[in-house]
Amino acid sequence: MIDAGEVWLVGAGPGDPDLLTRKAERLINSASVIFHDALVGAGVLELVPGHVQLVPVGKRSGRHSRDQKTIDALIVEAALEGERVVRLKGGDPAIFARATEEIAACREAGIPVRICPGVTAASAAAADLGLSLTLRGLARKLTFVTAHARAGEELDLDWQSLADGQATLAIYMGKSAAAEVSARLIEAGLATDTPVALVENASLGSRRHFKTRLDLLPLAARTAVGDGPALILVGEALGEASAGTGKLEARTLSANGR
Ligand code: SAH
Repeated sequence: MIDAGEVWLVGAGPGDPDLLTRKAERLINSASVIFHDALVGAGVLELVPGHVQLVPVGKRSGRHSRDQKTIDALIVEAALEGERVVRLKGGDPAIFARATEEIAACREAGIPVRICPGVTAASAAAADLGLSLTLRGLARKLTFVTAHARAGEELDLDWQSLADGQATLAIYMGKSAAAEVSARLIEAGLATDTPVALVENASLGSRRHFKTRLDLLPLAARTAVGDGPALILVGEALGEASAGTGKLEARTLSANGR
């Protein structure tokens, strides 16, 4: 399925291996080397056949990281050596995953590169909450935004356009900036009681979710979630009653209850 010297950017989904696409699984099985992120679920990595070389190139803020240029170079080098390369990324490879740099590096080296989409964290979080991210008449717009700032820098976001009462915001990498996000959105006009949900480890047995309101988001981000990846969702759609919540809680309590 993968030719020698070809690169596939593959979405591993939010963590639960059952949320991997069949195509992603086939690509994983036909790779000779896989470079993967720290966010790729352990259950997904377990599916990788033993003969495939598995190379972690994880970048998680505050921990050991390989810089993007090194990752680009590793992928290019493997492809030039004739490997069948899978670059496995958490969620969808086209959403906050530095795909552009890797695609450009491959193209510059004349390496064919393709993308296999994955289930993004926002979709998995909505599923865990049993909620829709859009809502007829109330949430007509869905914005994916990252609240990750470079160390020591302020977030440079267009708060005015983000503070849209008719939109749902899916904020990636937003946990450490939660206080700033809350203050800026309120300053830009969003109501203090706008519904907010925090979802950590979406789709996994260890998932946790917490519903609150915009002005209480900083407190919730500090106390309600641990140090797993977490998504912040903001907007009226989050105020709807969740589907099947009771069942979900029961499953959350039973460890690894998939
Ligand atoms: N390409 C990924 C996003 C990578 S950015 C995707 O499409 O999902 C990393 C951020 O994604 C994390 O900081 C967190 O905000 C979010 N994220 C990834 N996996 C998650 C999960 N299982 N649960 C909650 N948030 C997750």
